[in-house]
Amino acid sequence: MPKIANESDLQYKRRVIDIKSSSFCGAKWYNATIWLGSGQTTSCHHPLPHAIDVEAIKTNPSAIHNTLQKKAERAMMQKGERPSGCEYCWKIEDIADQEDASDEIISDRVYKTVIYDDGDLDEAFNTSAEQDVNLQTLEIAFDRTCQFACSYCNPAFSSTWVKDIRRNGGYTNLVSDGRNHFTHEHDSSQLYIITDVNPYVEAFFKWWETDLHKTLKELRITGGEPLMSGYTWRLIDWFQENRGRSKTRLAINSNLGFEQDKLERLLDATAGIELDLYTSNESIGRHAIYIRDGLDWDQWCSNVRYLLDSGKLRGLHVMCTINALCLLSLREFLWNIVNLKREYGRDAINFSLNILRFPSFQSPLILPSEVREKVADELAYSYNLMADDVFCHEFELNQLHRLIEYLRTVDSPHSGAVSREILQRDFKNFYEQYDQRRGKDFRYTFPELKDWYDTL
Ligand code: SF4
Repeated sequence: MPKIANESDLQYKRRVIDIKSSSFCGAKWYNATIWLGSGQTTSCHHPLPHAIDVEAIKTNPSAIHNTLQKKAERAMMQKGERPSGCEYCWKIEDIADQEDASDEIISDRVYKTVIYDDGDLDEAFNTSAEQDVNLQTLEIAFDRTCQFACSYCNPAFSSTWVKDIRRNGGYTNLVSDGRNHFTHEHDSSQLYIITDVNPYVEAFFKWWETDLHKTLKELRITGGEPLMSGYTWRLIDWFQENRGRSKTRLAINSNLGFEQDKLERLLDATAGIELDLYTSNESIGRHAIYIRDGLDWDQWCSNVRYLLDSGKLRGLHVMCTINALCLLSLREFLWNIVNLKREYGRDAINFSLNILRFPSFQSPLILPSEVREKVADELAYSYNLMADDVFCHEFELNQLHRLIEYLRTVDSPHSGAVSREILQRDFKNFYEQYDQRRGKDFRYTFPELKDWYDTL
């Protein structure tokens, strides 16, 4: 078992991780996100993706994970050096360094490591970084087809975002968007059309058939919207037709923006297969509809209940992307989840809080300090109540604690970010255009921010 009885996250970190090195993270070896549409990969969703060598996968399909860049970063972690792409974790840990050691804040590197067996982690640390490693947890995206175009997403991950850019042109006057997320259609994210042979998809299915289905503990399909991809259904069919051949747990990310019959089809197709479903949301009602363009709030709520009522999922996980606009109703949203836990059970539904860094003008840190402080105080009040609530998990509380500290102490969303003034100007420039293109109204949706917004 990864954790011993009654061990806290911090005790685990000291016992298993710190004795290896001050920067070791099991995700660099055993976890990957792979975008097969663009031929890119990363170790978790924090570091930016990098290219997979299309020549290397012809003879070694595992090179869709074991890239030269990851091998170099594994070597760094073995020596206690910090790969720059993992800045998300270093930033969280550096908040803690300024404080009492007993109040150390846990970064994602602990949560991404604790899921692996101690022996496998020892082997990763003690094996040459040159070696290929078989994945244990994998998040894979086949393509970017998606019916939503959320404000913090972009055309690289959503075909509906592509349509916005194609119809209206790129967004303009975004000084801080150095990576040009919103200025073009990101054709490189979809290198092959649906009828083409995609060598990355081919490599994945080859690796899956030969080795991966034997070692992989969790396969999580993401997108785009995975339920709109034929490859997702092909994999589900594989699981049904090959019962007993693989112990891999199947997980699917879905925005749940469907009529119920689609979910019924999913539950029927996965009958007898352990399935975890991950969905995204982080605010309520009109806030959620504004942030996640395409979302029908009532439909999302009723689909969550439908899935919980079915009793057929292994777990339902709500991923909250903490952006500036969700803060105003995040607290209420989290209490909604806690109340669902009371109804359906502590483990039936849970939440994770992922703090948005890009696009940096949508970071919660761009809000005026009085709003951030007020939200942090309100969340702290809820944290104290949740800490005494048997329905809340330690990992949920830790993530809430670190968000509160983040709002109170961190100044800049990432190193090299432009000044807050420029980010705030971009914030307004973006949402003025977003409103026009999507038929939305910032001032109506967020009246609490209207006066401040009008000064930008
Ligand atoms: S960002 Fe953090 S969790 Fe992700 S691979 Fe790097 S150290 Fe691990």
